[in-house]
Amino acid sequence: MVAMRYILPILAALSMSVASFADNKDKQIKCAVQGFAISIAQATKDHMFADYKGRRYFFCCNGCPQEFKSNPAKYAKTAPSIPTPKSTKKKSTK
Ligand SMILES: [Zn+2]
Repeated sequence: MVAMRYILPILAALSMSVASFADNKDKQIKCAVQGFAISIAQATKDHMFADYKGRRYFFCCNGCPQEFKSNPAKYAKTAPSIPTPKSTKKKSTK
């Protein structure tokens, strides 16, 4: 079984390069309620997120935001989140 020594590092390198490619293209996060992996870009587009105490939480489906809002403290404790983007300024200082 000498070949295994050569195959395993190649497989590891391949999966790492795929993962970093995927990460650049489409960042993933877990649904704050159910823990499914979801795309941040897609969830943002679909408004499947909620802001709570300066953090933004993402959801996999329509039911999850309601569940989150009914008890945000419980989910915020363990759920992955990103800092709430401050993007609503239309005009910067001229
Ligand atoms: Zn869901």
